[in-house]
Order: sequence, then C-alpha cells, then structure tokens
Amino acid sequence: MIRKKLIAGNWKMNNTSSDAADLVSGIVSEVGRANDVDVVVCPPFTSIESVGKALADSSVKLGAQNMHPERSGAYTGEISAGMLRSLFASYVILGHSERRALFGETDAFINQKVLAAIKSELKPILCVGETLEEREAGTTLKVVQTQLEAGLVGVSKEQATSVVIAYEPVWAIGTGKVATSDQAQEVHAFIRDLLNKLFTPAVGGKIRILYGGSMKPANAPELLAQPDIDGGLIGGAALEARSFVDLVK
Ligand code: PGA
Repeated sequence: MIRKKLIAGNWKMNNTSSDAADLVSGIVSEVGRANDVDVVVCPPFTSIESVGKALADSSVKLGAQNMHPERSGAYTGEISAGMLRSLFASYVILGHSERRALFGETDAFINQKVLAAIKSELKPILCVGETLEEREAGTTLKVVQTQLEAGLVGVSKEQATSVVIAYEPVWAIGTGKVATSDQAQEVHAFIRDLLNKLFTPAVGGKIRILYGGSMKPANAPELLAQPDIDGGLIGGAALEARSFVDLVK
C-alpha cells in the first residue's frame, strides 16, 4: 500500500498576520509545487484567511488548529467547520494534547468535532498520544487505543479514508525528546492494526498516520523510513521556513 506522505505545520499560538505572511511566502516559494508529498500549514485563526490567499495558486493546503462541532450559535470565541471551509481550509487538527490537557477536551467532545469536520468535508487530523507517566506505567497502547476508538465513533469506512491520525507522545512535544523510530513504529503499527479492525484492512491501509513530537530535519528521515509512519505533524520546526522546507524535501 503506497500512502502519500503528509507534512503538516502546526503553528500553534505563534505569528502575527505579518509574520504569517513572511513564513508562508518562504514556504510557497520553495515547496509550493511539491507533489510527491502533501504539505499543510495550520496557522492561528487570525491569519487563516490571509495564509489561504497566499496558498491559492500553490499545492500547499490550509488547515486549522481546532474548531467547534456546532454549525453556528451562541459559542463565544469559537469557530465552526463551515467558517473554515468558507476560507478554503481543507484540514483541521483535532484533539491535540494541548487542547486535551489545557482546555479539558474529552474524547467525546473531540469525537463530535471529528464527525462535524467530516460532514463539512474538512479532513480531521486526530491527535492521540500518551503522557510520560502513562508510558512509564506501561499503558501507552491502552491510552492510544481508548483515544483512537473514542475519537472515531460513528465514522463510516467510506469516511475513514479522509481522516488522518497523528501519534504524538506528549513527552516528546516541544521538549526536544523525540521518540526513537522503534518506539514510534511500535505505536504506529498498533494504530494501523486497530484501524484495520475498526474499518477494513483496505481502509486501514489508506489512512495516514503522522508522527509528531520534536520532529526536525535531522531526525525525520529515520522516522519517515518506518513502514507505518506516513508523515509528520510539526510544531517548533514549522515556525521557520528553512526547517519546514527541509522537512518537506
Ligand atoms: P513539536 O510540536 O514539533 O514542537 O514537538 C508538535 C505538535 O505539538 O504538533
């Protein structure tokens, strides 16, 4: 099964709209025509529209970092899938560990978002991953299984191929401590097996599973050479055009 690699930049709460314009122009000028890998950038909401315009004639896709599951209504401070679609976003990161830990997002709430994103034809990038305590307690696979199964409740096998999974060990995010390629591959293979069982092997074989957590140009080749690692969700190294472009290349 050949899966096209995907490299997604998660800018988190970084970059004013003018910083975003500089960063996206550096990315587009270097990899705006890449076609053997899917490239996605996920700016903060405040620069979604301007970054979308800067990407319009390129092959780089626009993603958001979060959304609310409802279509509209009294949800002060929130953004809907339809709003993101109207600005030409095609991906949305859901269930990032920072949303789970800092904003109390539950698996059930994340699942509602996954379903709402799919309904609006946004591709969810569903994040799962264990904390250091969970890894040390030997519960990594159990934690990942719970998050994955709960996040995908109600997703049909037809819909599942639009979903992207990101395995992000929490202890590796922003810490410079990258999982070894063996540690990552073990979890990716486990996720693949779960997807095969939840859907079908043909569907599971099409779903991309990204690794996230201190991925950089120096450690990416070894991670990306693993059979079940289909790309990366990149935080820190996505904030500079040079390192992001090097990752894509
Ligand atoms: P990092 O972040 O690359 O800075 O570790 C990854 C992420 O949180 O998606």
